[in-house]
Amino acid sequence: MSTEGVIYRVAGPVVTATGIAPRMYDVVHVGNEQLMGEVIKIVGDYSIIQVYEDTSGVKPGEPVSNTGLPLVAELGPGLLTSVYDGIQRPLPTLREKMGDFIYRGVAAPGLDREKKWEFTPIVKAGDEVEAGQTLGTVMEGTMLHRIMVPPALKKGKVSEIKAGLFTVEEPIAVIDGVEVPMMQKWPVRVPRPVAEKHQPDIPLVTGLRVLDTMFPLAKGGASAIPGAFGTGKTVTQQSLAKYSDAEVVVYIGCGERGNEMTEVLTEFPELEDPKTGHSLMNRTVLIANTSNMPVAAREASVYTGMTIAEYYRDMGYDVALMADSTSRWAEAMREISSRLEEMPGEEGYPAYLSGRLSEFYERACLADTLSGEKGSISVIGAVSPAGGDLSEPVTQNTLRIVRVFWALDTKLRERRHFPTINWLTSYTMYDKQLAGWFKENVAQDFPELKAWAMRILQRESELQEIVQMVGSDSLPDEQKVTLEVAKMIREIYLQQNAYHPVDAYCPLDRQYVMMKLIRKYSDLADAALATGVSVDKIAYVPARQRLNQAKYEAEVDAELEAVSKDLDAQFAELGV
Ligand code: ADP
Ligand code: MG
Repeated sequence: MSTEGVIYRVAGPVVTATGIAPRMYDVVHVGNEQLMGEVIKIVGDYSIIQVYEDTSGVKPGEPVSNTGLPLVAELGPGLLTSVYDGIQRPLPTLREKMGDFIYRGVAAPGLDREKKWEFTPIVKAGDEVEAGQTLGTVMEGTMLHRIMVPPALKKGKVSEIKAGLFTVEEPIAVIDGVEVPMMQKWPVRVPRPVAEKHQPDIPLVTGLRVLDTMFPLAKGGASAIPGAFGTGKTVTQQSLAKYSDAEVVVYIGCGERGNEMTEVLTEFPELEDPKTGHSLMNRTVLIANTSNMPVAAREASVYTGMTIAEYYRDMGYDVALMADSTSRWAEAMREISSRLEEMPGEEGYPAYLSGRLSEFYERACLADTLSGEKGSISVIGAVSPAGGDLSEPVTQNTLRIVRVFWALDTKLRERRHFPTINWLTSYTMYDKQLAGWFKENVAQDFPELKAWAMRILQRESELQEIVQMVGSDSLPDEQKVTLEVAKMIREIYLQQNAYHPVDAYCPLDRQYVMMKLIRKYSDLADAALATGVSVDKIAYVPARQRLNQAKYEAEVDAELEAVSKDLDAQFAELGV
């Protein structure tokens, strides 16, 4: 089998070569600069390659060599805190080697080859081990990192196991005569195996009221967050990366503007993990493949990120993976497909768009891992439909797969209602599965309170139609009160400022107390109406204003308690 060939044709990121006789998805090095690419189509002796680096200046006749290997991710200690490009090259290393120019033809391994890690074995010589089983552990910063038998190894007997300081390449064990280092390599397009998948039944707690209470995502589930430019996709994803109760976060900036990624890169190291008090970067892997980087690498960035997420899931962690934005990945598919002169599907996207998207989202799961732990990957994909038109193919294909839909709304943005998640069109299909958890861990009546609030909001939207036709004066008093309560749910509960030091993160217990207070107001208002108190007096009880502001107070929980007492006292004055 020949591995050396030449370039026949160059068309942007798509290069045709002859003479390399590859298999599909083999990684090849293209041109004098040895740019990295992947074979995506084979026609007779012609191999069509998508190149992950900028191909300008590359010419026919230059050499091509086939590695004979698929695109792999390097997995081992040192992933956390890393910032990678789309093909897992550490950006700081690239910058060192190349300055701020186009990084191309630079081989920079994903894991540091020099650094030594303290390995502590937990199996002994003579033990029988299986694929995925934990051989020992390493402290990776503040996280316990399991070194597991590579899945490819299946089963075997440990003849040697070491303890002490090793690089990721040095063998720490010998299993059936095979030397096993800490680092594994895994083909990124192939899902890593688990023992058994389960129905997700625990929420990913985000600290965002509208998500946790109204439209929760389960750990191991997938959600889509579509919205027009400027509606808050990135802000929401970054809030989730900061505050959600995932143990490991993989954040993929895919094809979006570089300055958004710069914000993440400068902000994250300074932020504290609310649970541990350590820097947020300690639990984070960032993949930055911004709009100025080659389009073909968007696909690689998505798969590489997912493979890293699966690796930490395999250790038994709850992982959250954010991809911002999957639309840019889909656009890359469209561009490559058109270069290949494939038959275009809807709006020029290739026919395999929906297949690729579902393969990606289906890697979200809650599972018993091969290491005997329980781990999960929750996936949150941003979708950026042009003009916010949700009927376009990427949004539609995504909605067929995911079970949670957070619809961002331009009209809410115009009203400066943040997060702009539309409560009437968004949905979660995890409600039933999660109700038990919320009852046990927050309050028995939490699901019931949420259902009540949703009914009020729906009622508001019906009443608003009437108000638009005949004005609000014509509404009966109890409907006027319903509108006041709905307004409180929207302004106090659903609105949440991502930049406010107190309000950015709202724990579940506080979410419950806040909703309970709005409900209390509603019940007292109904009672007051029944005794003949006017709507105006009900609407203007001072406690309501105090409740509006409470979420911004440093001593918010004490403030909420005070509001509860105020409500009792002030409605008592009204004769309730
Ligand atoms: P997108 O990624 O959808 O283009 P961004 O996430 O960058 O939009 O949000 C655009 C702007 O909207 C932000 O810069 C910020 O001013 C505002 N914004 C979005 N979400 C919030 C929020 N939860 N709280 C306060 N401001 C927000
Ligand atoms: Mg954005």
